[in-house]
Amino acid sequence: PTRRSSDLFIRQLSYIPMKRLHGKVAVVTASTDGIGFAIAKRLAQEGAKVVVSSRHQKNVDNAISQLVDIGLKDNVVGTICHVSKAEDRKRVFDEAIKLGGLDILVSNAAVSPVMGPTLECSESAWDKIFEINLKAGFLLAKDAMPLFKKRGGGRIIFISSIAGYQPFELLGAYSVSKTALVGLTKAISNEVAYDNVTVNCIAPGIIETKFADQLTQEGPIRDHAISLTALKRFGTPEDIAGVAAFLASDDSSYITGETIIASGGMQSRL
Ligand code: NAP
Repeated sequence: PTRRSSDLFIRQLSYIPMKRLHGKVAVVTASTDGIGFAIAKRLAQEGAKVVVSSRHQKNVDNAISQLVDIGLKDNVVGTICHVSKAEDRKRVFDEAIKLGGLDILVSNAAVSPVMGPTLECSESAWDKIFEINLKAGFLLAKDAMPLFKKRGGGRIIFISSIAGYQPFELLGAYSVSKTALVGLTKAISNEVAYDNVTVNCIAPGIIETKFADQLTQEGPIRDHAISLTALKRFGTPEDIAGVAAFLASDDSSYITGETIIASGGMQSRL
């Protein structure tokens, strides 16, 4: 039997989160749609002030108006940020500073521009994948540290993928970039612990967003993908947002260097 993620939607929307993040300021990259949007929404619902961003102004405007419509006007600001552009990364942090400083960084942007055997991935596609999926996260974390120090601590959350544990067929380079994020999480976490900063990572399974369209549209591929989950459904962006809110909050204060797999029970091993 399979279950649709939408069956659970009403429960998720009627759930009133605790205000665990009151007084905190968060930057969430790639947060105008999908998982990033759900994370921005949830952090704001829990009381944080959130800088919402992505590459296109119209997507930023649309996301902000959706958040304003559900009563989060005082908790969100929007700005353009293409994560591979230094001036854009500076802009999101400047927005956080205007809100009082930075406490939480969620590095969520990723691309998967090619499908095919790994050794047929062009050098330019490889570079783009690693620039956005890995290097931008590293650079964001680097620039976040001085801001965290001013606030006496902070939280870094990277968004990896189940594909980082078991490479997805035809998505080799993307999968390797997501494995590298697990390593980046471990490497940085040891080094910033003294500054009261925790660094953790989430590895989502298949989540119903535009990004996963090719797997989630009706048909045999969808059925097969669902059969790989123990829960017999795809994830929702809200499923991931709940994990992110936990990692952003004091409830996770003794967790660092870890990757939480939120995959509905898909097999994972490194
Ligand atoms: P999505 O629904 O397609 O949303 C993508 C978001 O990223 C949009 O807001 C887009 O807005 C923004 N974006 C794209 N490129 C960007 C860039 N270079 N800089 C800044 N923003 C950018 O994607 P998603 O499924 O939520 O994926 C989010 C993260 O989850 C990614 O790291 C992905 O690898 C990971 N993940 C997804 C799944 C899944 O099944 N969906 C599974 C595992 C991991 P603009 O177009 O305006 O830039």
